[in-house]
Amino acid sequence: MVGHVPVGGDAPVVVQSMTNTDTADAAGTAQQVFELWQAGSELVRITVNSPEAAAQVGEIRRRLDAMGCDVPLVGDFHFNGHKLLSQYPECAAALAKYRINPGNVGKGSKRDEQFGAMIEMAIQYGKPVRIGVNWGSLDQAKMARMMDENAQRAEPLPADALMREALIQSALESAAQAEALGLPGNAITISCKVSDVQDLIKVYRDLASRCDYPLHLGLTEAGMGSKGIVASTAALSVLLQEGIGDTIRVSLTPEPGEARTKEVVVAQEILQTMGIRSFTPLVTACPGCGRTTSTFFQELAQKIQRYLREQMPVWRADYPGVETMNVAVMGCVVNGPGESKLANIGISLPGTGEVPVAPVFVDGEKTVTLKGEGIAEAFQAIVYDYVRANYSEGGKLRRRMDAPKTIPLKTI
Ligand code: SF4
Repeated sequence: MVGHVPVGGDAPVVVQSMTNTDTADAAGTAQQVFELWQAGSELVRITVNSPEAAAQVGEIRRRLDAMGCDVPLVGDFHFNGHKLLSQYPECAAALAKYRINPGNVGKGSKRDEQFGAMIEMAIQYGKPVRIGVNWGSLDQAKMARMMDENAQRAEPLPADALMREALIQSALESAAQAEALGLPGNAITISCKVSDVQDLIKVYRDLASRCDYPLHLGLTEAGMGSKGIVASTAALSVLLQEGIGDTIRVSLTPEPGEARTKEVVVAQEILQTMGIRSFTPLVTACPGCGRTTSTFFQELAQKIQRYLREQMPVWRADYPGVETMNVAVMGCVVNGPGESKLANIGISLPGTGEVPVAPVFVDGEKTVTLKGEGIAEAFQAIVYDYVRANYSEGGKLRRRMDAPKTIPLKTI
């Protein structure tokens, strides 16, 4: 359990994210955590890198609680985590999980001592930890030792295989060390992040076959824009399809001006398009072609998707199950009606040379034909009516009593 969120076992795959604000700025950090949570992040990690940051963690928690946001906070520690956790007890108590990077807890003899101090704090406060190894910060002394041993072998491992083995050993040895100190095995999550897709798949397949700890999946630096989205989707989809992964984070570099919440949306869409979990009604839209006369249908698809996403913080509580709804926005009558009939609600806009009307399909039946100004607003209203009729308690009850399930056929 990370706070109230179960991770691992039969629990659903959890979406998490990380802030990029200065944690010492309690107001700014609380606001971004809130936005990530509103977007659907079920855990949010904040960096705790300095006394100033550690001193504000309790205040961030209080601000979130006051905003009605109960998302568990994960503290990301490097180098000085042992000191910060012991010097700032309010920080240690307010965090729901500590992330420890075994490559960044200290050098030489201090490494075990400082790692042990962090584990003891986790035991004292009853918190789980993530042992999070990264290729970029792998324990260099360990790597050097493994390279020497590898060179002595009759058949040395190739460099990339040795790197993967070093990552896995670092994580598993640290987890064993934590358990030996008294941390329960079910309070440990493991991650071994790299930035190459094929390496990530190999590392996690191996890791999954060698331990039962919940696994946190993600590329360490996915990148920006479509590259980051595609690389994360490619890597995570293969592993998730094999049942590997208990919590995911998509480490996107935001484009200038882009919302931090994009990484949450991408993580959710990976899980939803693979049929693993549903979070938000999805809009199916055709790509458009020479038959489409304007960008109107693209704008409508975007507008409806944005509308659905914006409603979710409220709809999630008021209309359970709405996240599984499908909406289709199609550009002409060639594929439009067929695709629209497969969705819960679909609209087929007029293509080039077609009569300027837009038939709407609800549960596979044509119910209304929209035309003229205000098609977007009218369609949005139909979507909302459908949600209220099908996902509210009262709506479900009426449907069970065989009330008409579609809006009567008419032309607006
Ligand atoms: S549905 Fe119509 S507009 Fe959309 S891609 Fe197909 S043919 Fe083109």
